[in-house]
Amino acid sequence: MKQKIKTAVLFVAVALLFSATAAAQQAEDLTLYQGGEAYEVKSFTQTFKSDTPKNVILFIGDGMGVAQVFAGLTANKGSLFLENCRYIGFSKTSAANRYVTDSAAGGTALATGKKTYNGAIGVDVDKNPVKNILKEVSEKGLSTGLVSTSSITHATPASFIAHQASRSQEEDIAADFLKFDIDVFIGGGYDFFAKREDGRNLIDELKKKGYTVEKDLARVKNYRGKKLAGLTAPNANGRVQERGDMLPVSTRAAIDVLAQNEKGFFLMVEGSQIDWAGHAQNTAYVVEEMLDLDRAIGKALEFAAENGETLVIVTADHETGGMTVNDGSFETGMVKGAYTSTGHTGVMVPVFSYGPGASEFIGIMENTDIHAKMRKLLVK
Ligand code: MG
Ligand code: ZN
Repeated sequence: MKQKIKTAVLFVAVALLFSATAAAQQAEDLTLYQGGEAYEVKSFTQTFKSDTPKNVILFIGDGMGVAQVFAGLTANKGSLFLENCRYIGFSKTSAANRYVTDSAAGGTALATGKKTYNGAIGVDVDKNPVKNILKEVSEKGLSTGLVSTSSITHATPASFIAHQASRSQEEDIAADFLKFDIDVFIGGGYDFFAKREDGRNLIDELKKKGYTVEKDLARVKNYRGKKLAGLTAPNANGRVQERGDMLPVSTRAAIDVLAQNEKGFFLMVEGSQIDWAGHAQNTAYVVEEMLDLDRAIGKALEFAAENGETLVIVTADHETGGMTVNDGSFETGMVKGAYTSTGHTGVMVPVFSYGPGASEFIGIMENTDIHAKMRKLLVK
């Protein structure tokens, strides 16, 4: 009898140990996304009011290659808002001094049409400031905006407004926001404006320039004025579980501010953390960031379909992680990712477009061509 109890206890202990090990192994397999809830995707009209756009909304999925898009599409059980974009091309992303770009050189290429060195924010290889698309369109009377899930002073959004030799100068980049009359910007990075080494309080300076400064997403959502600085986190915004629908809500809020200008607008929206997910080789993180960006794209497409004079472009600055998708399920949304790098890669990234002017963005192009085409359509 005693022996039987001993055996049973041993059996239970071994079984517990096995299941605990299996659970730990499963928890550690960051390349596997188990699947989850899918959201409904809408189809929008493919007929527009005009042949050329009055407004351009540029989405940048930082680090978003074809595999990241397909991981998202699989996780959402076979569809994305992005599929409304019927014009598709590829962008060659290399930097001036490197085959593999970083987000600063990649962002600067898209914002200014100039290839530069890795780390450069809106400056050329000789560190001279280069005119960006925000400045170019504002000279034509258009309104401008930037939205990002990272700090608004992080490399990608910074490239569209600032001119600094290095992406690490986030306090200098914040000060550059005061040098240009941008109409709306929403992202993290409050502390780069408020807690600075030079003692300046850029929050007060923004208010003096007529901005409403909001830290709270609900207040960003309900904002009905003309000059909004939304600083929704001290530094980067958190992951989706923490920041909620910050990106879709901010995209819509920015559009509502900008659409008040009859002459038109340019808005850049960045899904920053697809890149961070790629660096971490974390497929669930890739998927949640990809789907969050797609929901924001849905908000823009909804506006564009109704407005009829808005071009929506979705691209990336580079690919991150050398990701591919080795298995998946459209039924459960499961995605099995695989990665060849913990850094960026040199492969071409997709360019998806919707609306008047979308046919310009097909074929294989340089990242700098995207700037040239947007400029041609908006500045003429
Ligand atoms: Mg970025
Ligand atoms: Zn990166």
